[in-house]
Amino acid sequence: MSEKLINKGIRPDGRKLDEIRPLKIKAGVVDRADGSAYVEFGTTKVISAVYGPKKVHPRHMEKSKKAILKVRYNMIPFSVYDRKRPGYDKRSVEIAKVVSEALENVIFLEEFPKSAIDIDMEIIQADAGTRVAAITAASVALADAGIPMRGLISSVAAGRVEGNIVLDLTKEEEDASDAIDLPVAMLARTGEITLLQMDGDASVDEIEKIVRMTEKGCKDIEKIQGKALIEKYNANTA
Ligand code: UDP
Repeated sequence: MSEKLINKGIRPDGRKLDEIRPLKIKAGVVDRADGSAYVEFGTTKVISAVYGPKKVHPRHMEKSKKAILKVRYNMIPFSVYDRKRPGYDKRSVEIAKVVSEALENVIFLEEFPKSAIDIDMEIIQADAGTRVAAITAASVALADAGIPMRGLISSVAAGRVEGNIVLDLTKEEEDASDAIDLPVAMLARTGEITLLQMDGDASVDEIEKIVRMTEKGCKDIEKIQGKALIEKYNANTA
């Protein structure tokens, strides 16, 4: 039998079951954009930049009563071990769509009719959890751009590995034979879930435990997102 990844509640990287990887967030990392953020969940690294609100191109895409979001998710070729072919694929289009849906309901889009807000997310290094890191970064970048929102969206995945419910899976854990992974995004202030995805089989009890674990994770992440924005603001006003 192959060796277990999790022994007595301790994971391969030394974390406990309900622990998130070391999280780093920095707001305002791209001078050229209206807002930006850099996020690290352990060795998963992402940068997000926001442009707008601005005119819509092509014009026929504009909405008379609200702004539209144009979201792009991209993994750069050296973000993974098997060099990734540059450009978009089915997976990146799907992730851009779910990220857009995770963010749009908390942005006051109706304040900017006939406008577009561009959100770019570049995955610099991937070790699972890239979509949740991207959402966490995009939310800080939107706030940094001064886009009015009901609050910050925070995001993390939790799942099951070798029968244990665990927070913030690495690629090694995700690849375990019985593993399932549920990326969740929420308006941490209220607990309102804006993204919940799942592949594989899980019982209702497991799903409940997993979602509860992401809730605590998102509340912790929101604090660090807020701190990053305050640090940027303080640096600008010093
Ligand atoms: N991955 C990869 N090459 C790819 C796509 C994904 O190596 O073309 C890896 C990468 O580490 C990624 C992980 O598989 O983070 C899990 O991918 P998934 O589609 O589940 O999305 P994520 O967990 O990154 O949001």
